[in-house]
Formats: sequence, C-alpha cells, structure tokens
Amino acid sequence: MARYTGSVCHLCRRCGDKLMLKGSRCYTPKCAMERRRRPTGQRFRRRRVSDRGLQLAEKQKARYTYGVLEKQFRRTFAQAERQPGVTGDNLIALLERRLDNVVYRLGFADSRNQARQIVLHGHIVLSGRRTNIPSCLVKEGDTISWREGSTKTEYFKQVAGEIGSKSVPSWLGLDRDNLVGQVISMPTPEDAGVKFEGQSIVEYYSR
Ligand code: SF4
Repeated sequence: MARYTGSVCHLCRRCGDKLMLKGSRCYTPKCAMERRRRPTGQRFRRRRVSDRGLQLAEKQKARYTYGVLEKQFRRTFAQAERQPGVTGDNLIALLERRLDNVVYRLGFADSRNQARQIVLHGHIVLSGRRTNIPSCLVKEGDTISWREGSTKTEYFKQVAGEIGSKSVPSWLGLDRDNLVGQVISMPTPEDAGVKFEGQSIVEYYSR
C-alpha cells in the first residue's frame, strides 16, 4: 500500500501553513513552522502565485492533511462529484469519514499518521468486524472499538488515561470508560474545521 514516507513538516512548510501532522510536537516550539516560517524553495524571492497555483495549493493541503496520495484523492473527488449536493462539501465529508481520520478524531491517536498505523496493525474493530483498511468509510450508526487483545497493551492504557482531556467532534460520540466511539451523524464541513477550501479543489479539477 503506497504512502508518503518523507518529512511531514516539509509538507507544512511547502503549504506555508501548520497542518498539524505530527501530534503533540505541533504544539511545541520545536514545530518546524515556528522555527522557519518561509516556505521551502523560497529562500531568496517570493513569486506571484497564479489562480491555478492557489487552487493547486488548496488541493495539496487537503491531500497532506488526510495523508492521501494523488491517485486515491482523485478517486475520492470523482466519488464526491457523483453524489448529490455541493461537490466540495461532499469531498470534505468523504475525507472525514475515513476510518483513520475517525480514529484520530476520537482521540485514539495523536495524528492521522499514527491512527493509520493503529488501523493497519489490526487494533480497530468497526461495527463488530476487525478492519485494517485506513481508507474504509464509516457510516451513521457505526461503532469504532478496540480489538480485545489490543486493550491489554500499554498503548491502550495510555490512551485510556489521556482520553478525558480530549474533545470529540459533534458528529461522533465516545464512551470514555470503554473507549468505544460511535458515528452519530454524517460530518459537515464545519465539523471538519479544515484549513482548505473545497470549492478551490473543485475548480482545480474542473479544468
Ligand atoms: Fe507541521 Fe506539526 Fe511539523 Fe509543525 S510540527 S511543521 S505543524 S507537522
């Protein structure tokens, strides 16, 4: 399964925005964006960016945020186009509904990358079925829990100890005693609180 293996801080610097890809480190002065705000490759001069360039930047921000490669992102966009309603909003909802994102949103992981690893290693059970596909889409009524064997791990105990301080978006519910999440409703763009514009991505792919 292909994935980006380079520095994620480099992606933030390339976008010129903090995409919060590294968990707790993103909140410390060690964050690369706090130390060097200048985008990569712009050491000496700043070029004027075209409309197309701005749309591309929004699309890349969305991809980097959810850790999705171009081919899969295009597939998700095509799926959003086929759905009724506003394509940009559909796209955000589809990205939000990814299982790795839901694991992250429930506070079971510090970053989407870490959530992806948790899913890949088979620790997560989706509505009673063990699932190791990070891109799997959750639907209303689904439950997200831990495999029984995983509840004995040190990592699970650490998550259980810290879960009280984490907040969960309104479209998800969380039983904090048993670390079981539930999908209450479908996410809206407001729920997602993303740093990119869905409409710019639609314009990017419309050319
Ligand atoms: Fe981005 Fe987080 Fe790295 Fe800062 S620490 S550059 S927010 S990934």
